[in-house]
Amino acid sequence: MSNIIIRKEPEYDEKIALMSADAQFDIAEGEARLASEISSIKRDIKSPASPPKVPKVFLSNNCIFNCAYCGCRCGRDKERYAFSPRELAEMSVGQAKASRHGIFISSAIYKSADYTQELIIETLKIIRNELNYRGYLHAKVMPGADPLLIYRTGLYADRLSVNIEVAKSEGYSLIAKNKNKNNILTPMGHISGQIKALGKEREKSRFAPKFATSQTTQLMAGSIGEDDHTILRLAGALYNKYDLARVYYTAYHYETPAKGYENLEITKTPAWRVARLYQADRLIKLYGFLPEEIAPSSNSYLPRDMDPKAAWALRNLHLFPVDVEKADYEMLLRVPGIGLTLASRILKARRYTSITEDVLRELGVSLRRSGSFITFGGRYKGIKSDNPEKLKVLLANNNIEQSTH
Ligand code: SF4
Repeated sequence: MSNIIIRKEPEYDEKIALMSADAQFDIAEGEARLASEISSIKRDIKSPASPPKVPKVFLSNNCIFNCAYCGCRCGRDKERYAFSPRELAEMSVGQAKASRHGIFISSAIYKSADYTQELIIETLKIIRNELNYRGYLHAKVMPGADPLLIYRTGLYADRLSVNIEVAKSEGYSLIAKNKNKNNILTPMGHISGQIKALGKEREKSRFAPKFATSQTTQLMAGSIGEDDHTILRLAGALYNKYDLARVYYTAYHYETPAKGYENLEITKTPAWRVARLYQADRLIKLYGFLPEEIAPSSNSYLPRDMDPKAAWALRNLHLFPVDVEKADYEMLLRVPGIGLTLASRILKARRYTSITEDVLRELGVSLRRSGSFITFGGRYKGIKSDNPEKLKVLLANNNIEQSTH
């Protein structure tokens, strides 16, 4: 008789411990790892209030897919778990009440995309209808999930997300062999279509079904040797086509050879590249820059030693200096050292007073950084734009944490 090994299903506490380890393979808005990577950007390029910090919970780590970069891949020998919808719902609401943060339900693809999505819907139903949780709820959509299941998920969630991961469709066959462009972009299209359609219905009638109001995605940097030009062009296209609220960036790591990917190169994308991508992303989403302006094909990687707006300004010195008393809001936003808040303050101050050096200082503008790009009261106090090397030294910062505008 052959020996049959029956694996013991982990106890609830063991599942929680395993889940905490797996949560690092995905991104939730505001998560600690991400926050440390982009702490400089929060000070630097301002964005509107983001959703609340959301600790992520995983339904299961037992994935049928085998993505090279993921700790949950089926080709990896590790302990597996799956929570029941009720277990996960009660744990999530308990956590959300204790932390006063929202809930983010995610999962590996357990048995099939549709089966996992059904379990997620069941979890959301318990959270909303039985546990009466009314706070922020973000739910993951599985690649290739049925449109009807996506619709049912959106009836309970505030935000939905499906992760695109790679910046070029041919990358799936290299690092995520079970995924393809269609099983990611089709759900993304359904989500965006339903957000728009049901949003309009709600405007007309308060009895129309309430549906999620936003969607996000996650994109890895450095997974297939793509440049920042490619990543940012894709992000710009996703914002335009699917009206995404955010694209989250993460650094691709492949440090241990994975079954099925033995020939893949061992590599680790540095955190600074992700931080620069976040800065560039904000410039596209909030400052009106085009992806091609930030990372043109002729300069297709973001520099490490300078923020992307300063790098753009140095490539476009012919547009400067601008007169802070006359420049429009869009042009003020392009001045290194002047962000959303300062540009608005300058416009407001112009209604009442001339913009002098003292006024600029009172408004909080650092002339050290912006002085070479502006004139005020007909005066120029910067380094002449015919001395770009000196300007470059002034704007450079090797420590991304100290970056300003
Ligand atoms: S689909 Fe890929 S990335 Fe997602 S959990 Fe499964 S192996 Fe990981």
